[in-house]
Amino acid sequence: MNNTEYYDRLGVSKNASQDEIKKAYRKMSKKYHPDINKDPGAEEKYKEIQEAYETLGDEQKRAAYDQYGPAGAGGGFGGNGGFGGFDSSGFGGFEDIFSSFFGGGASRNPNAPRQGDDLQYRVNLQFEEAVFGTEKEVHYNREATCGTCNGSGAKPGTSPVTCAKCHGSGVINVDTQTPLGMMRRQVTCDVCHGSGKEIKEPCQTCHGTGHEKQNHKVSVKIPAGVETGQQIRLAGQGEAGFNGGPYGDLFVIINVMKSDKFERDGSTIYYSLNINFVQAALGDTVEVPTVHGNVELAIPAGTQTGKTFRLKGKGAPRLRGNGQGDQHVTVNVVTPTKLNDAQKEALQAFAKASGIDPVHPKKKGFFNKVKDAFDDM
Ligand SMILES: [Zn+2]
Ligand SMILES: [Zn+2]
Repeated sequence: MNNTEYYDRLGVSKNASQDEIKKAYRKMSKKYHPDINKDPGAEEKYKEIQEAYETLGDEQKRAAYDQYGPAGAGGGFGGNGGFGGFDSSGFGGFEDIFSSFFGGGASRNPNAPRQGDDLQYRVNLQFEEAVFGTEKEVHYNREATCGTCNGSGAKPGTSPVTCAKCHGSGVINVDTQTPLGMMRRQVTCDVCHGSGKEIKEPCQTCHGTGHEKQNHKVSVKIPAGVETGQQIRLAGQGEAGFNGGPYGDLFVIINVMKSDKFERDGSTIYYSLNINFVQAALGDTVEVPTVHGNVELAIPAGTQTGKTFRLKGKGAPRLRGNGQGDQHVTVNVVTPTKLNDAQKEALQAFAKASGIDPVHPKKKGFFNKVKDAFDDM
């Protein structure tokens, strides 16, 4: 009965206040949110945190959890199916028990119009597509309103009638033996499955559900400057509602693929430019790729490795607001690994002119002298 699993998940002690629990929950949620945290296992962790908070964030549920815990729950409550093994991934049964104890859920009017479920769709964008924006057609399966019966579930020409077992309430009372004594709880009516209506002649297309599977496609306008993890909401493109309720929404989640040239943070694009040591020493003008096309960049004489130049306005558009970011070009001075005879001779002449004897580089402090020679330029 000494259960601390949920407390451990939120990283709080067993006697934490509601305030502390809420604070810990917010912090952990942010840390492991799958849109922010791309580590494998983050999503699982996020779900565990949600689960823990659903119980600990509610004083009544928390009290029951403290008292019975999952072990107590597994052994008690009649043990009649549904509850089975305590399983951290879903354990719907646990929720159901709480709901029936504390009167959640079942009292809802089953005939009220209810919005359909939201759906998520992950869309992969090329680096440039994210920078400039694009339009994508997405295809997915969803539950749509049945076209034959228009969602009623009844064969065209007939109508659903009020359920005889629950008289249209959608729920029936059931008495259950629990460790707390005999409990009367409401469960969903097994005849109408909560709808409060009975369909005598079901629609042949949807077999009475009022919904049918649909392969749906929709076009999504993706604004310039989006980043991984951002969502675009398309109202009404989710699943069909119930009892005439509206469709749910579709959330298009952006995933920007890596570029082999560039990196990007917000509106700033980063590029790493290799130049050789002669260009660095003498200066040069080089072509640098940007998402807006190649531009010329003047490398001043005496440029050191690690030096960053800014190409103003050559970055990505700012998602909200005006203008565009910059491209940062960081120089990497590359030392040649192979020299031909002519190059060697030229460098030896350079060494001589710098007062360096390249035959005994260590004794003469070759490296320091070369450095001095470059510093002078
Ligand atoms: Zn139908
Ligand atoms: Zn019923």
